[in-house]
Amino acid sequence: MSLIVQKYGGTSVASVGHIEAVADKVARFRDKGHDVVVVLSAMAGETNRLAALAQEVMEQPTPREMDVLLATGEQVTIALLCMALECRGHGARSFTGGQVRILTDASHSRARIREVDSTRILAQLEQGNVVVVAGFQGVTEHGCITTLGRGGSDTTAVALAAALEADECQIYTDVKGVYTTDPRMVDGARLLRHVTFEEMLELASLGARVLQIRAVEFAGKYQVPLRVLSTFEEGPGTLITLEEHAMETPAIAGVAFERDEAKLTVKGVPDIPGIAYKVIGPVSERGIEVDVIVQNAAADGNNDISFTVKRGDAERTLEILQQAIPSMPARTVELDTHIAKVSLVGVGMRSHAGIASRMFKALAGENINIQIITTSEIKISVVIEEKYLELAVRALHSAFELEKAENG
Ligand code: ASP
Ligand code: MG
Repeated sequence: MSLIVQKYGGTSVASVGHIEAVADKVARFRDKGHDVVVVLSAMAGETNRLAALAQEVMEQPTPREMDVLLATGEQVTIALLCMALECRGHGARSFTGGQVRILTDASHSRARIREVDSTRILAQLEQGNVVVVAGFQGVTEHGCITTLGRGGSDTTAVALAAALEADECQIYTDVKGVYTTDPRMVDGARLLRHVTFEEMLELASLGARVLQIRAVEFAGKYQVPLRVLSTFEEGPGTLITLEEHAMETPAIAGVAFERDEAKLTVKGVPDIPGIAYKVIGPVSERGIEVDVIVQNAAADGNNDISFTVKRGDAERTLEILQQAIPSMPARTVELDTHIAKVSLVGVGMRSHAGIASRMFKALAGENINIQIITTSEIKISVVIEEKYLELAVRALHSAFELEKAENG
């Protein structure tokens, strides 16, 4: 017998019919003798609907009240699932985040979990009940309701699995698991049986949005065995593991990409200490996330500094830089909103040589110009013109034979 934490996302509980199907699924696990703790999201679209209601009343809703509002979505689904389980002859109890005491800090809308009290959950499991917990929410030490940021139910599930020392944390969603790349873009995209926490973090932050990044970090830190799988189709899904567990690691796990980026280039800055800070400083100080940064020495003793930001931040970044130009001094600032970032990710890069050159060769073969290159231990990213994105992803996917590679 084992203890499993299962999280069902919004599309898995989108209607009463869906909730009943989830109840059938949970019931089957109970029948096999597993203890089950279920974490639910709100019905698909519900959190957005609630947020829109708030917008109608107040342009910048009070963070405290916003969390009180948003946390209601999950309260609906947990109660309905418990009813559906009871109809199927299974004891079930629902709990809000506050009731099981998922203690968080007080940063509304992006609270961090500090502590989980498992006593109440364990007592219910002991009595043979399924425990159904509202995802995405917690409570401060003063009893205020908080939420964990969009997609936060994943983090709730992982935190509960860690606290309960569950045998597995299963994240049920509307895709079969983690793929070598987006299957909507590449026909040959293949489901990965295993991926390491590190790879998953890179894949998630690089655009493969199957799991909330914080949930992956949390799972890695507490070594929670995490599996992503489909609610609607049978299959083993993708197991996210420690590297040691992955046998025969292939060099590359997948190709991730990010479409909505923009590149800013500050031209003709003098090659003296402090310039990079003068360029990037004012941008980060306004809370804009700067991604890839490169500096090129030009022939005349001046440098160009290029960096990327989210496309939505591009205009604001441009304004900030234009204001800062007189003090830099720089000649001009250029903005390019038609770029995209493509990355190869894989822990096997550590032990396989020549990955970068193979990557560049594949892109060269398609005549794709690389604007910026950055690398880390387990990833190589290139910034290219957006119109070549699909071509680049396909070329890399086939150059590294990802459609064939046996993984797991
Ligand atoms: N319902 C919340 C959201 O839509 C939390 C979640 O689904 O994980 O972001
Ligand atoms: Mg979600």
